[in-house]
Amino acid sequence: TAPERVRGRYAPSPTGDLHLGNLRTAVLAWLFAHHGDHRGDHRDVGPGELLYRIEDLDPSRVRPGTADRQRADLESLGLVFDPPLVIQSTRFEAYASALDSLREQTFECFCSRREIAESASAPHGTPRRYPGTCRNLSAAERAERRRSRPPAIRLRAEPEPVTVVDLMHGEITGRPDDIVLQRNDGSPAYNLAVVVDDAGSGINQVVRGDDLLDSAISHAYLARLLGQQPPTYAHVPLALNTAGQRLAKRDGAVTLADLAPYGIGAPQVLSLIAVSLGLATADEQVDLATLRDRFDPARLPRTPWVVTAPGRD
Ligand code: GLU
Repeated sequence: TAPERVRGRYAPSPTGDLHLGNLRTAVLAWLFAHHGDHRGDHRDVGPGELLYRIEDLDPSRVRPGTADRQRADLESLGLVFDPPLVIQSTRFEAYASALDSLREQTFECFCSRREIAESASAPHGTPRRYPGTCRNLSAAERAERRRSRPPAIRLRAEPEPVTVVDLMHGEITGRPDDIVLQRNDGSPAYNLAVVVDDAGSGINQVVRGDDLLDSAISHAYLARLLGQQPPTYAHVPLALNTAGQRLAKRDGAVTLADLAPYGIGAPQVLSLIAVSLGLATADEQVDLATLRDRFDPARLPRTPWVVTAPGRD
C-alpha cells in the first residue's frame, strides 16, 4: 500500500496561556507532520498536514480570550495550521452519536473520584485503572445507587491486549481501561471526544506530551470500536522546572507574554526550543523550514526539557 501522508493535529485546551513546554510540543507536532517521513521508516512521502483543534469541552475550565491568544502565540512562532479548524464545543452531536453506537458495551458507574483513588491500588508506578466496582451491578443495585448520585457511563473494555505504535517509545502493548465516555453531569468525557474528533478528521498521527502515553492504549482501543484505524503516536518529553516538576505558570516567565519584557520574543523562543531539541546551536537564528530539514525523530532527546525560567519570585 502507498504510504499515507501525515495528517496530524495540535489540540490545546484553552485553559491558560501556552508555556514553553506546550509551545515545544506544538513545534514538534508541526515538524513530525511536515518532514515527510510518516512512520519513522525514512520513506519520504512528502509533507503532511497539521490541523488545529480547540479542546474547549469543559466550559468551567475555559478562560475567555485564551483560545485566541494560544493560536496567536503559535502563529508568531511561524506555525501554520491546515483547515478545517475543529472546536469541540460545537461537536456534542458527534459525541452523542458515538456514545449511542457503543451503548451495548458500556455500564453505569457510580464511583466518585475519591472512591476510585481509595480502592485497592495498583502497584507503585503503574497507572491507576478503574477497579471494576460497578461493572456487574444488578438492576436493583443500580436503582439504589441512582438515588444518591447520577451515573457516569464507562466503556466495558475487553481484557485483550492492544498494541500501539509510538515513534518515540516503539510498540507499546497494554490492556485498555474501562474509560469514562460520559461524565455524571451528562457531558461527553475527554477520552471520547479526542477519539471521535481524531477519527472524524482522519488524523493518522498524534503528537502530544508523554503524560498522555498511558491513555494511548485505551484511545486506540476505542478508535477500533468506532471502526477506525488508530493513529501512529509520538508521545514527546515534557518540559520540567528545575525541581523536576511539570513546568507551570508559577515557575516564572514561561509564556510568550511573560518572556517579552526580558527581551525574549518569538524568534528567541523558537531558538530556545530548537536548541532544546538538538536542532540548532545557541548562537543561531533558525526558522521552521530549517528545523524541518534538520529534523530526525530518531535523534530527538528522550528525556524531559528542564527549563530555568527568568523571573522566578
Ligand atoms: N488538550 C490536551 C492538552 O492540552 C491534548 C490532548 C491530545 O493531544 O490528545 O493537554
